[in-house]
Amino acid sequence: MNSSRPFVVSGLTLHEWYQTAKEFASQAEVSPAELEWLLQEVAGIGILDLRLGSVRDRPQIWLSVSLEDLTKLWQQRLDRRMPIQYLTGVAYWRDFSLVVSPAVLIPRPETECLIDIAVATSQDFTDDNQHWADLGTGSGAIALGLATALPTAKIHAVDRSLEALSIARRNAERLGLSDRITFDRGDWWEPLSALKGQFTGMVSNPPYIPSEMLPDLQPEVAWHEPPLALDGGSDGLDCLRHLVNTAADYLRPGGIWLVETMAGQPPAVADLLQQQGQYSHVQISPDLAGIDRFVLALRSVEC
Ligand code: GLN
Repeated sequence: MNSSRPFVVSGLTLHEWYQTAKEFASQAEVSPAELEWLLQEVAGIGILDLRLGSVRDRPQIWLSVSLEDLTKLWQQRLDRRMPIQYLTGVAYWRDFSLVVSPAVLIPRPETECLIDIAVATSQDFTDDNQHWADLGTGSGAIALGLATALPTAKIHAVDRSLEALSIARRNAERLGLSDRITFDRGDWWEPLSALKGQFTGMVSNPPYIPSEMLPDLQPEVAWHEPPLALDGGSDGLDCLRHLVNTAADYLRPGGIWLVETMAGQPPAVADLLQQQGQYSHVQISPDLAGIDRFVLALRSVEC
């Protein structure tokens, strides 16, 4: 036995449980890969062992929850459309395993690109001790990605939600990055006013879904993910507009303004940046699926 896996079942029992759970998954149109993921987290079983049926031959398998509770977890996935990441409490993003709860948005694969764009764009700044902001940090994913990719930078993670900040802080501690990141509660730049004009970069995945679209999102998102992290107001651009209008005071000359948006929004965000008058080099880039999703700008050197 292992302290994090105190429950035991026979391999045969678990194999049968898996077969039944898989049938329910296909009726509910949930991918069996999610079931394998759940079993990997709860029982440490590899996907091949499940698929090839070799689990059956193992006399004992240790689980972190009882078989009864495992059934309840899977029911929550199928009947209540609870995302698997909230059920296991874990999301994988870049090379991190992150703690998540319904207080934070589940970090999405497309958001991983923000870190690569930030790093590629930051090559012109060679000074140490740069300040970077992750505004609306949620699970802390972006802040952690920046802290790893920019090893001498100081990262400032901000969120309005105390619950989110406590998860972000926990993730930083687990990854040994807490001395590189400060966590502040507040609205966007507000807690960082002492550092006006000093930021080398701002990276944000703000809420950008138009309010009236929220109920139409897939149930996993609409029913379980925090509206605070999704709702971008009537046209979806409320927070993006706010970041355009406020960031110029916080970024140093040439400083980087970088956001994720919803498909279709980048031209409007680029217009907002142009109209604001204090940004240059506005650039739109696609995610891995080829959909334009990221908007980058530099704070003008002279304005
Ligand atoms: N990408 C998320 C989704 O697909 C939304 C994230 C956000 O609003 N920033 O639901």
